[in-house]
Amino acid sequence: MRILGVEGTAWAASAAVYTTNTDSVFIETDAYQPESGGIHPREAAEHMSDAIPTVIETALSNADGPIDAVAFSRGPGLGPCLRIVGTAARALSQSLDVPLIGVNHMVAHLEIGRQQSGFDSPICLNASGANAHVLGYRNGRYRVLGETMDTGVGNAIDKFTRHVGWSHPGGPKVEEAAKDGEYIDLPYVVKGMDFSFSGIMSAAKQAVDSGEAIEDVCFSLQENIFAMLTEVAERALSLTGRDELVLGGGVGQNARLREMLAEMCDQRGAKFYAPEPRFLRDNAGMIAVLGKVMLDAGDTTPVSDSAVDSNYRPDQVEVSWRTDREE
Ligand code: ATP
Repeated sequence: MRILGVEGTAWAASAAVYTTNTDSVFIETDAYQPESGGIHPREAAEHMSDAIPTVIETALSNADGPIDAVAFSRGPGLGPCLRIVGTAARALSQSLDVPLIGVNHMVAHLEIGRQQSGFDSPICLNASGANAHVLGYRNGRYRVLGETMDTGVGNAIDKFTRHVGWSHPGGPKVEEAAKDGEYIDLPYVVKGMDFSFSGIMSAAKQAVDSGEAIEDVCFSLQENIFAMLTEVAERALSLTGRDELVLGGGVGQNARLREMLAEMCDQRGAKFYAPEPRFLRDNAGMIAVLGKVMLDAGDTTPVSDSAVDSNYRPDQVEVSWRTDREE
């Protein structure tokens, strides 16, 4: 069986084919790179409409047989981008005469780790550009156990790097600069099970403006932000009694974040799994893989019910593919 996945919530115009008999995922992505500043929704949508046909063509030409279903990201994301991808997916499912599957992008970030790790019922830390969630399954839904109270974690890092004149995306540049840094004091904000990134981002900008070494600011920004995420992930493991953690989202490509999470899990005897980078950043592979899981559960989406939703929360999704409903 072959599932075509289409992703386009923000910067990644991406198509993938998941071939089940070889358990292989081919992913083709064309990234939107802003000329200056951060992601501009209109430019991102223009990129999406230019790039989506080509990445789909490449993915289809790589498939070794007919496509059995089309899965696409319904949200959350930038409305203008989502609408382009939704239109392409609907048209393809109708012209190929195969089922359509509308996938929640954040649940796809979670499920790719769960599927690949073979973990049973992990806690998931989704550390992405526009979001930051700690999720755990209970009684038919992925519950949001903790989340950002303001900006997404990657967006906070990117806003800091825009301030210092570095090009988008900022995360990899902060990771590089942090290697030569030492700790300086920056805010650390965890309230209950939620975290906040806007204060630390402003304080980091001010620290650079007042002459602190950029390497020290990058180091401290990473240490505090990742410690906040690790603290809430640990508390989620503790409160739920679970002993498995998976990581999702583009910020998960950061080696220091993975190191902190792995160490925390090790200390409490929990298992930790981080997918390879191509499945952490936005990609259509995770959409295709979750599409297959949903197809198996009979969870397809009629075209008449396939509108995109830019605020589609992970806890709105009825998790049709899990039977452990009372857990
Ligand atoms: P979402 O999945 O919430 O829609 P998104 O569309 O912005 O988010 P992702 O691909 O999940 O996309 O994440 C992109 C973010 O990851 C950017 O903010 C980028 O700076 C950050 N990022 C990428 N590499 C690294 C890294 N090595 N360290 C820290 N952050 C990183």
